[in-house]
Amino acid sequence: MPSDKPSKADRIAAANLMEEASEVFDNCISCGMCKSLCPVFKILKEERVSPRGKGIVLSDKVMDKILFECTMCKACEEKCPLNIKVCEAVMKGREAMVLKGRGLKSNEEMIENVRKCGNPFGDKDVKDPEKLYCC
Ligand code: SF4
Ligand code: SF4
Repeated sequence: MPSDKPSKADRIAAANLMEEASEVFDNCISCGMCKSLCPVFKILKEERVSPRGKGIVLSDKVMDKILFECTMCKACEEKCPLNIKVCEAVMKGREAMVLKGRGLKSNEEMIENVRKCGNPFGDKDVKDPEKLYCC
C-alpha cells in the first residue's frame, strides 16, 4: 500500500506512466466512435467517463478518479478506427495514481482484506485464509 507521501522514485515512475498513457492517445482524432459500446458511458451518460473523455484527461496528463470508472471490457478498442489501446492507457494512469497515493480507498481496503482474511470482504470466518474467496 502506498504511504501518504510518495517517494521520489514513485513520483518519477508515476510521471513516466502518465507520459506513456498520454502518448497512447497521440493519434486519437476525438471521433467518439468508441463511446457507443462503453457500458460506463451507457449508464452514467457523461462524456467525461467515456473512452474519449478518458483520453482527453490522459492526453493532458491529469490524474482523475474517472480512470477507475472503467470495466476494462475493451469494447471501445473494438470500435476505434485507429486501434487506440484505451485500456493500456487507463491502466497506466491508474498505476500512476496509486504510486502517487491517489488510488481508491475502497480498492486499498479490499486488498488489505485479501491479505489479512483471504477474501475481499474482510470476513474472518473463512476456513482457510490462505485461499482466495469471493462471492
Ligand atoms: S474511437 Fe479511437 S480515435 Fe475515436 S475518439 Fe475513440 S479513441 Fe479516439
Ligand atoms: S474498456 Fe473502459 S472505456 Fe472502454 S468501453 Fe470498456 S468500460 Fe468503456
